[in-house]
Amino acid sequence: MILPPFELHNPNSIKEAIEISQKVKNEGFDYVSGGTDLLQNYKNRLNVKPHLISLKNIKETTSIKDFNIGAMVTLDEISKSKILQSNFPGLIEACSQVGSILVRKTATIGGNVLIDNRCYFYNQTPFWRTSLGSCLKAEADECRVIPQKEYCVATFSSDSAPMLVAVDAKYELEGKSGKRIVKSGDFYTHDGIKRNFKDESEIITRIKIPKRTMDLKTGYEKIRVRDTFDYPLVSVAAALKTNKDKKIEDMNIVLGAIGTYPIINKDTTNAFVGEKISNSIIEEISEKIQKKAQPYNNLTMPVSYRKKMVGVLCRRLLKRLTNS
Ligand SMILES: Cc1cc2nc3c(=O)[nH]c(=O)nc-3n(C[C@H](O)[C@H](O)[C@H](O)COP(=O)(O)OP(=O)(O)OC[C@H]3O[C@@H](n4cnc5c(N)ncnc54)[C@H](O)[C@@H]3O)c2cc1C
Ligand code: SF4
Repeated sequence: MILPPFELHNPNSIKEAIEISQKVKNEGFDYVSGGTDLLQNYKNRLNVKPHLISLKNIKETTSIKDFNIGAMVTLDEISKSKILQSNFPGLIEACSQVGSILVRKTATIGGNVLIDNRCYFYNQTPFWRTSLGSCLKAEADECRVIPQKEYCVATFSSDSAPMLVAVDAKYELEGKSGKRIVKSGDFYTHDGIKRNFKDESEIITRIKIPKRTMDLKTGYEKIRVRDTFDYPLVSVAAALKTNKDKKIEDMNIVLGAIGTYPIINKDTTNAFVGEKISNSIIEEISEKIQKKAQPYNNLTMPVSYRKKMVGVLCRRLLKRLTNS
């Protein structure tokens, strides 16, 4: 599949990138970092824009300083970062399970938290898609998964975002109205087309990890068709703090690839604060989270299997993090 024509812009600073975005906004544009998600969609003629503004030459966002990760840092660089390896192993686990090594050498963390939501009826060639009449997220006005739905329920498929949400990371954004910082957990929306609350002109410049993450046990589990290559079909990110008596002081469990955004289970996990970690408590937590999970029927594996796997991954992850 070949790429469609577009005009490529190569700014050297964030300011210049935003200025270009304002000049071409009426014609339509996308920012592009590694291009590993966006250009696949372009090849499939999905929501192609006439202008691409590359963030590749912008040096301001290419390093990891303390707990601030530049948006252009690649997933491979994150996997090798000593500071993150010792203080945030969950992020290493999430990033090193994205696609394949070739993808991770190019793919950036900024692009990863912003990837397009996925759906069996959408991520297809134009020939496949239009033979069914296409759908709301592409060329038509009806959803193929839930026809009576007024919005798209394509699945949230980023591996790093559920882990970032679990530790309450923040995204730093810069756009035509200046800079702002948004909590990752408040950034995403239920609509699989809109996906998040980013203004069109805004660029994610940095991901800010709270210092308290170094006191947490963090981990990530994922199920996919091919372990060397694929997007998640279900994923679970956990951040946990226990005291010396193994009692839970704080716990976040966030699901990826289940809904249209990362699913936070704070009501369920808060109810277990103060409980001593044991196999039966882990069983109870996992069962409750599985029960609440409602995957949509729009990825390659059946909903019943993906729902069951929520419990399996939760149990596996909590046992691993607590040596139970
Ligand atoms: C074979 C294959 C397997 C894959 N498997 C996985 C997987 O298992 N898990 C997974 O999470 N992903 C997977 N991906 C998707 C993709 O590789 C990653 O999500 C990657 O991290 C995206 O980053 P990127 O820099 O390439 O983003 P791009 O493709 O450049 O951009 C993605 C989106 O983010 C926007 N964008 C990018 N950077 C910024 C920024 N700094 N500010 C504002 N907007 C921005 C773009 O406009 C676009 O909408 C896979 C891709 C391929 C080709
Ligand atoms: S969920 Fe519905 S509207 Fe969204 S991509 Fe799938 S078929 Fe299209």
